Amino acid sequence: MVFHSRLAPTPSGYLHLGNAFSFLLTWLLVRRSRGKLLLRIDDLDAERKRPEYVADIFESLSWLGITYDEGPLNPDDFEQHWSQRLRVNKYNETLHALHKTGKVFACSCTRSQLANLSPGSRYPDICLPKNLPFDQPDTAERFHIPESPDVTFTDSALGKISVPLGRRTGSFVIRRRDGIPAYHVASLTDDRDFGINFIVRGSDLIPSTAAQIVLADALGWTDFRNNVFIHHPLLTDSDGNKLSKSEGALALKTMRNEGAKPKDIYRKFAISVGLPETGAETMEELLESFGDFDPAEKFKMPNLK
Ligand SMILES: [Zn+2]
Repeated sequence: MVFHSRLAPTPSGYLHLGNAFSFLLTWLLVRRSRGKLLLRIDDLDAERKRPEYVADIFESLSWLGITYDEGPLNPDDFEQHWSQRLRVNKYNETLHALHKTGKVFACSCTRSQLANLSPGSRYPDICLPKNLPFDQPDTAERFHIPESPDVTFTDSALGKISVPLGRRTGSFVIRRRDGIPAYHVASLTDDRDFGINFIVRGSDLIPSTAAQIVLADALGWTDFRNNVFIHHPLLTDSDGNKLSKSEGALALKTMRNEGAKPKDIYRKFAISVGLPETGAETMEELLESFGDFDPAEKFKMPNLK
């Protein structure tokens, strides 16, 4: 299969080692299939978006030697032609189509009301029976998710995945209180419009994939479920904690400034996914050592309960 995939960073922090690993894996799988790669910068709801974070995406990809076939060439090109903020009409069309499914309801819960709900449990559909109007200020829109059944889909590395979306998340926001379409709507719409057939994500995004599958199913967008999905293990620090953007020491920019070379990142990547040790200095050499690496043999199902 020829993969058409995307790199989808969010410009709300400097790219870190975890982003690099996800991008390297995507690039290798796409190039091995002689496929096509899109750079899509997810800035629609990036509240902490800053010009230096956008610039860092281009600098980091270039430093790592990660090439792509479609998408912005530099920050100016991005702002003028590729920003998700230019595609809001498309996302609103998706919202309109979702309304027609009859599963969308208005929610006027405030941030502090929501903060008082018990963490890790479903949004208890407080506003569902109220039938609130959609056109009021400070009103979000949620897509109704029943408590059961679980959402199931197939991951090409992990096999069949069953996500307790109804018990853990519940009805989720598809349009925010400020009117901006939510991440799931933008991501799903873009994946469809750009003809994506292969989605590589960290395993922390398994619930996001499940939410998007529910939306795609409701819209009759059957192609989405037929995508090849790979959810990879998250990179952890030496204490086993998930890496995050807040840990500045692991920002690629910091590593570059401290003299790290791309080959150092390639070597760490190879070890983390279970490839043999590599001295690759370029992406082409890394692709050679990637060989016929099969993620299904190395990646383990995370605990979703
Ligand atoms: Zn509500």
